[in-house]
Amino acid sequence: MAQSIEQLEAAIRGQLIQPEDSAYDAARRVYNGMIDKRPKLIVRGVDVGDVMAAVRYGRENGLLTAIRGGGHNGAGLGTCDGGLVIDLSLMKGVRVDPETHTVRVAAGCVWGDVDHATHAFGMATPCGFISTTGVAGLTLGGGIGYLTRRYGLTIDNLLSVDVVLADGRFVTASAKENDDLFWAVRGGGGNFGVVTSFEFRTHRVSMVQFGPTFWPLEQSADVLKAYREFILTAPEEVNGFFAFLVVPPAPMFPENLHRKKVCAIVWCCTASAEETERATRSMRSVGTPLLDAVGPAPFPAAQSAFDGLFVSGMQWYWRADNFTELSDAAIAQHVEHGSKLPTMLSTMHLYPVNGAAQRVGKNDTAYSFREALFAEVIVGVDPDPANAGKITEWCKNYYDALHPYSAGGAYVNFMMDEGQERVQASFRDNYGRLAAIKKIYDPTNFFCVNQNIKPAL
Ligand SMILES: Cc1cc2nc3c(=O)[nH]c(=O)nc-3n(C[C@H](O)[C@H](O)[C@H](O)COP(=O)(O)OP(=O)(O)OC[C@H]3O[C@@H](n4cnc5c(N)ncnc54)[C@H](O)[C@@H]3O)c2cc1C
Repeated sequence: MAQSIEQLEAAIRGQLIQPEDSAYDAARRVYNGMIDKRPKLIVRGVDVGDVMAAVRYGRENGLLTAIRGGGHNGAGLGTCDGGLVIDLSLMKGVRVDPETHTVRVAAGCVWGDVDHATHAFGMATPCGFISTTGVAGLTLGGGIGYLTRRYGLTIDNLLSVDVVLADGRFVTASAKENDDLFWAVRGGGGNFGVVTSFEFRTHRVSMVQFGPTFWPLEQSADVLKAYREFILTAPEEVNGFFAFLVVPPAPMFPENLHRKKVCAIVWCCTASAEETERATRSMRSVGTPLLDAVGPAPFPAAQSAFDGLFVSGMQWYWRADNFTELSDAAIAQHVEHGSKLPTMLSTMHLYPVNGAAQRVGKNDTAYSFREALFAEVIVGVDPDPANAGKITEWCKNYYDALHPYSAGGAYVNFMMDEGQERVQASFRDNYGRLAAIKKIYDPTNFFCVNQNIKPAL
């Protein structure tokens, strides 16, 4: 007989939240304000035992089951309608081992939790460009950030994971045990089980050279042309992503630039100030910058610089692609659509994914696009739901214009719910192996609220 809700309640130490509870409305919300789903039950576990009990309950009651780490998924894959949400946000805890240069992270942490703990030891693990994103979802999709060129994707620094499988079993996966599962979780997302803990390698990163260079929109074609060459040979200590953005009306920016559309490179370099200056001078002196404000910052400060701008609950629609090259024709499309940013927070980022990330083979982990030079993401953002249509339309038009120049697939963590074809295009020849591993660890596709990999037949 299937477990009853009373039995589940007795079995867990964490919270069980249902639609009639006062905590329900806050608990069902995710980062993207466009997502408005109503799960039947939210289980906020506090330990692995709770996760096992929740998985068992979902399975025995035939519930559609979503896993939530930081709740940041753009497509809203951390929740579902009418089913069970296994919310890990109460599972906090970070333990740095300064001897082995590793860090153990519980699945409910966001990157700010990890940065804070590792920074105390003068270390960091490659993460993203914002500190409020969940460690779990970001890692399982790949993990692109300020340290990618120097130390690789987040998954390239992953040493092991603890996982609760669909049948309730608890396993550890690493290069030594369950190595097929370990291969699959490095890019294959939440398809294979609930990861309850991550172990990462850390690196000596403490102070970075951080800040933007802004140029007038009219110079964006020249900046992009220079940037595509610059990033090919820039030292790996140099990271700088290209963006179209609207300068926020914040005190750190000169008032004459407030609310102005610009193109930019946001720098985060792990070299000294002098080396950074030397290595970036050629790029920062292209054209006539409006502002060039690179200076020393603790890594956690760089990591959280955008947190206050991109707060939870806003309308969010994004599309993405990988690029192995940036042709003049693609640049012309960028200039046209990038200059039409529809709202103050809408933006387009081109993240460099060369350097250390390219030293891992395309079949070495589930993440496939190792030869890509840039991961592009076009993001329509606005606090006002009335602008949902406007930001979506701009984003889709921009994406449609650039997609023909792309390598054909995207970073799965930057995708909306775009269907199977798109998922397969993003995993390419890794998809078959992923499907075979899915069949071993989740043969009934219990974990299907994700960029889904169907179990092989
Ligand atoms: C503002 C913002 C900034 C971002 N910046 C970056 C960035 O710099 N670099 C980058 O690489 N990505 C970035 N992302 C994308 C981010 O990686 C994805 O949105 C990711 O899914 C977020 O993870 P989460 O745990 O917060 O998401 P959630 O919504 O909680 O989960 C997303 C999916 O991940 C899976 N999942 C989550 N937790 C677990 C778990 N413990 N076990 C198994 N599966 C799990 C599930 O399939 C779930 O559906 C950003 C997103 C936003 C909204």
